[in-house]
Amino acid sequence: MTGADRPARAITPPRTYKGVTVPYITAWSQEDVPLDEDTLPRLRTGPGIAPYLVYANENSADRDRHGVLWRQAAWAPGEGRALFARVHVTRQRRVMLRGACQICTAPAALWMAAAPGWQAHLDQRGPDAPFLTEDPPVCRSCAVIAAESCPRLRGDGFVFLAPRRWANVAVRGQVADPATDSFSPARLVPLPGAVTTGGASDLRLVLAEALVTGLFEVTAHTDPDRVGGLGERLDPPHRIQVPR
Ligand SMILES: [Zn+2]
Repeated sequence: MTGADRPARAITPPRTYKGVTVPYITAWSQEDVPLDEDTLPRLRTGPGIAPYLVYANENSADRDRHGVLWRQAAWAPGEGRALFARVHVTRQRRVMLRGACQICTAPAALWMAAAPGWQAHLDQRGPDAPFLTEDPPVCRSCAVIAAESCPRLRGDGFVFLAPRRWANVAVRGQVADPATDSFSPARLVPLPGAVTTGGASDLRLVLAEALVTGLFEVTAHTDPDRVGGLGERLDPPHRIQVPR
């Protein structure tokens, strides 16, 4: 049982690779499961049933509490090379579900975002729109490590985001098309309770690879001491607008 929904609370100290701290969510080279004929889920259809995705070798950890099917990944942290630019699908989901630190898995206190991404959000959607992120939060003592080890934060600066509320609102994943028996490129699909300005996809047709959190009523800071915590958690989300 390796399901991200499992309510374990133990803290996992980060590993190191060549003397560098490796965040909990970082993928390792031995964990890669390529998507091919053997590992892709198939559409199951039949008279009177809405089509849905299923793995040939599916186990209980492959599906979350919403029934969404998740991309499979091996679990071998510390084996092979640390792939700093890659995120492990199950570990990302696990810490995002709990509001745990993406580096050490302790209770987190800070949301961080690359400065260009935050600015693009302000320019395109405005300050009142929810900010959607796949980057799990960090605890205060790991904020420095995150700034140094995350390629997205290291390049162009970052901000600390202080939302009033947050919730897991969507998954990112490829969506199967029953008409063509093929997958779309990955996109956001809202979870139950979240609403969108566009048409919602059927969650039974999604192969999820990241859990997406919405931050609501956000103020941005450069000083982490100005941020009082993650904000109030909404779970399950109710009538939350997910921009597309
Ligand atoms: Zn931490």
